[in-house]
Formats: sequence, structure tokens, C-alpha cells
Amino acid sequence: MSLVVVGSLAFDTLETPHGRRERIIGGSCSYFALAASFFTQPKIVAAVGEDFPQETIRLFQEKGIDIQGLRIEQGKTFHWEARYGDDPNQRTTIKTELNVFKDFSPELPPEYQEADLVFLANIDPDLQDDILTQVKKPKLVAMDTINLWIQSKPVSLLRVMEKVDIFFANEEEVKMLTKQTNLIKAGKEILRQGPSWAAIKKGEHGALVMGKDFIFSVLAHPCEEVIDATGAGDSFGGGFMGYLDMVKSISEKEIRKAAVYGSVLASFTIEDFGIERLKSLTLPEIESRFLEFKKRVSF
Ligand code: AMP
Repeated sequence: MSLVVVGSLAFDTLETPHGRRERIIGGSCSYFALAASFFTQPKIVAAVGEDFPQETIRLFQEKGIDIQGLRIEQGKTFHWEARYGDDPNQRTTIKTELNVFKDFSPELPPEYQEADLVFLANIDPDLQDDILTQVKKPKLVAMDTINLWIQSKPVSLLRVMEKVDIFFANEEEVKMLTKQTNLIKAGKEILRQGPSWAAIKKGEHGALVMGKDFIFSVLAHPCEEVIDATGAGDSFGGGFMGYLDMVKSISEKEIRKAAVYGSVLASFTIEDFGIERLKSLTLPEIESRFLEFKKRVSF
């Protein structure tokens, strides 16, 4: 099968209780694609400025990521700045400089239009909708979103939700969108909007995947020191979708395993700043942590 991801490539300036990093590589697409690259060869659609390092583009290629859909535009790369307090699930966005992302109008290369799996990472829902008109016959479409779009473009967001199979979001976002305080009610409400599945990320508490008559909980890896939580959600998505692409199945059994692989990838991302841990990560480390997850929940 083949997997296309549309999202941001960014410079992130991050401050966490473990330090500050200026303009390191980030963006939903970077985390997603690197996480998925352990299982498949994801195809990225994104735009960067001329200041984006060649070294990172080479890294993507070395990891088997298809960069045909990467556009290098005149101007600067998207820059996002955020600060985390002691609770890694709580962050404040300090600055969002859209730069070349402002005029981003994603165009899928012909080969990408045949994609079986599509992941619409957190970007403007109108752009997400536009992408869907360009893919021919996807077997599975997933989307992610953030507070910004729930607050600023709720109508567009609901329109995209009607067209996707899996809705990824974190717990607060799902509650905010559905105006429900109970997570199960909120998840059911999401399913009423169109998606067959809701993959709800709960930070250090793991994730919950809900379907019409299906509910599956994944614990998060017990981690005492979260160095930088940025990209955990996108790594979850990348592990999840990358695994499904590899096994060429979207059965309930594989969705459960995909959720565990998603959590495994996220648990590695938070061990270091930015994409550092994903860069050094190996498949045996992933498999070994997958088995640890399994042991922890069998009784
Ligand atoms: P996550 O921690 O998984 O929610 O993803 C964080 C990534 O999202 C960062 O690396 C940011 O560069 C990127 N990001 C933050 N805000 C936006 C936005 N408005 N549009 C696209 N990407 C964003």
C-alpha cells in the first residue's frame, strides 16, 4: 500500500523544564514521517523556505521518505515557538510565524494521488479538504487537528470530519470540539460526525481508540522524565498509520496493534528534544518496547 502525509515542516523554538532549543527541526510532517518510516516509505506533502537545511532533507531520504511532494519556496520556513510548564501536557504557544506556509496550497504529485492511506496532519481544515479532492480512491483517510482550528474554523473542520475514517485528536481537543466533559460521550459524538474511528491521545495516560462497537485503551510507556513532549501526537499518528500501511489491513485486530505502535513511537519522541530521538531510534528498540507494552497489560 502507500501512505501520504500532508502537514507542516517547521523550525521550532521550545522551552521545557529541561532546557531551551532555538529553531530546531519540527512540524507535524517531520514527526509523522520519521515515525512512519520504521514501517513503510511515507510520501510527504509540505512546503519549506530556502532556509530549511539540506541535511534534514537528506535525512528524510535516507529514512526512505518520499520527498517528491516537498516544495522549497522563496522565503522563510514556518516557525513555531512554545513553552511547557512542569506538566508536559500543558503548553503555551508563544509565536506562530507562518512564513511560506501562509500561501501553502498543497498539490499532490500524480503518484501520490493513488495513495491508499492518507494522513491529514494538523493544518488548516480548508487545505485538508482540498487534498481530499486530489486523492483518487484512498482506502483510509485520517485527520488530526489542534485547538486553533477548532476555535477559528469549526465549520470547515466539521466538513472534513464527515469525509474521514479516523479522527485523531487529544483529549482536551475532543472535549472542546464536542462540548462534552465525559470522554466516552465526546468520542461517541465524534463518531456521529462521520469518522468510523476516533483515536484520542491522552498524553501520559496513553490513548483510547473508539469505533462504533469498539473501544480499546493503550497505556502510555511509564516515563519519569519527559524531556520535550512536542511531536508526541504526530509520532503516535505516524506509528499508527505506518504500521497499518505495512500490514495492508485495517481490521480491528490491526487497529489495536497500530495504536500500541503509535504509543511506542510517541514514548521515544518525548525522550529528547525535537526529532533527536527518532533519528537515533532502531527497529529492535521499537519491537522491544512493544513487547514491554504487551507484558504490562496481560493478566
Ligand atoms: P504536536 O506536539 O504533536 O501537537 O505537534 C507539534 C508540531 O506542530 C510542532 O513541531 C509545530 O511546528 C507544529 N505546529 C504547531 N502549530 C502549527 C500550526 N498552526 N500549523 C501547522 N503546524 C503547527
